[in-house]
Amino acid sequence: MCGVFGVATVSKCDTPFLPAAYTYTGLYMLQHRGQEAAGEAAWDNGTIRTEKRCGLVTTGLTKDIIQSLPGTVAIGHVRYSTTGESVLLNAHPHYRTDRRKVAVVHNGNLPKSAELRKELEAEGVEFESTSDTEIIAAMISRSTAPTIEEAVIETCMSIEGSYALLVLAEGKLIGVRDPFGIRPLYLGRSRNERGEEFYLLTSETCAFGFLRAETTREIAPGEMLVIDGRNRFHYQLPVEAKRKLCIFEFIYFSRPDSVMMGQWVCEVRHRLGQNLARQCKPVNLDKVIPVPESGNHAAVGFAEASGVPFGYGFAKNRYLGRTFIAPDGWDDLVRHKYAALEPMVAGKRLAEVEDSIVRANTTGGTVAMLKDAGALRVEVEVVAPPVKYPCFYGIAMSTRGELIAADKTIEEVRDYIGADQLNYLSQESTIEATRCPKDQFCMACFDGDYPIPVPSE
Ligand code: SF4
Repeated sequence: MCGVFGVATVSKCDTPFLPAAYTYTGLYMLQHRGQEAAGEAAWDNGTIRTEKRCGLVTTGLTKDIIQSLPGTVAIGHVRYSTTGESVLLNAHPHYRTDRRKVAVVHNGNLPKSAELRKELEAEGVEFESTSDTEIIAAMISRSTAPTIEEAVIETCMSIEGSYALLVLAEGKLIGVRDPFGIRPLYLGRSRNERGEEFYLLTSETCAFGFLRAETTREIAPGEMLVIDGRNRFHYQLPVEAKRKLCIFEFIYFSRPDSVMMGQWVCEVRHRLGQNLARQCKPVNLDKVIPVPESGNHAAVGFAEASGVPFGYGFAKNRYLGRTFIAPDGWDDLVRHKYAALEPMVAGKRLAEVEDSIVRANTTGGTVAMLKDAGALRVEVEVVAPPVKYPCFYGIAMSTRGELIAADKTIEEVRDYIGADQLNYLSQESTIEATRCPKDQFCMACFDGDYPIPVPSE
């Protein structure tokens, strides 16, 4: 999971309406989607300039860096690694000049990128990174197709996997989404200081709020949108498109103030909690507490539907990122991230609401903290089904061995995390909370039904 953001203006503007400055703000609002690196590229009168740094948007991309990226179009990225190590060379944008000058940012993953890389290397293509995105950038750049639009379509037809791509080339901002729409992409519109309308593309609509941009629409699965000054051109990849949005966008990844498929993420999470309370009908509990922050809305819904009071049970260190997207040091990060609020939990029978259990290191740690703080009973309420299968589409859980529920019963997971009770939400109730049809989602990590072919190992 990464975040992408792009801006195409109709004419060159001064700071603070510099497209790179807008992109910086957009990336800042998408920081939750990746904390390993941040980068931008800007188009200025035939030149593409690229800057990327390891770390957060605010620490990596300084004002001087942003001001060194003048131009009319900019794209940016916050990175969370799935293919390629967490090093600067793998940060986006990837800039290639093989035949055309292109810069590419990507949210998603190509499960068979190793085969593609080998084929290109056999043709003499050299790569500076181990990222699958550089492969995409190289394919677009090398294409002999007469137009950049055709080069992007040709590349998309040669790759398989999840992608929400932004391509910067020839003064155009191009956004394209894989035919299953696994990763999200939204179009927005705003005005510069001269009142001229311009367009933005983002992984999540929360990025538009701060920029006072209006969400125009979702980029459809398999759609390519080209923004060229004042004009927008729409293309559809020549392949059947079938929406399969990653269900984890609702459960965990996205910010609660984003809207996906017409639904506020915060409202879906609230309903996830309500549905779980109705499903497991808890008794003899004193308090419902969230594991902050992705469990917050679900815990309120759970408390409402169960009649058990809501309260806070953890203090969270705000200066540590999301543990799910941390590249290493998981266990230490969890222990440094949360602390139990002893006066709030001691002597209480608690429902601890958690968005999901993947490896169980977070949940095992939080249950132990509550018990050490004097909780009498800890029931873990998970507002998602058990994660049993790896993800090959951009989430760092790529082997069954990493997943606690892959080969354990619910009782065995309960004992492993030290809880007194463990409830998971059913797949049907998870879908019901989204108010969207079941066939619109990828849920492969719950049921193993992968929409795009994945490696056999
Ligand atoms: S396998 Fe799971 S995490 Fe991966 S895209 Fe599908 S629903 Fe999302």
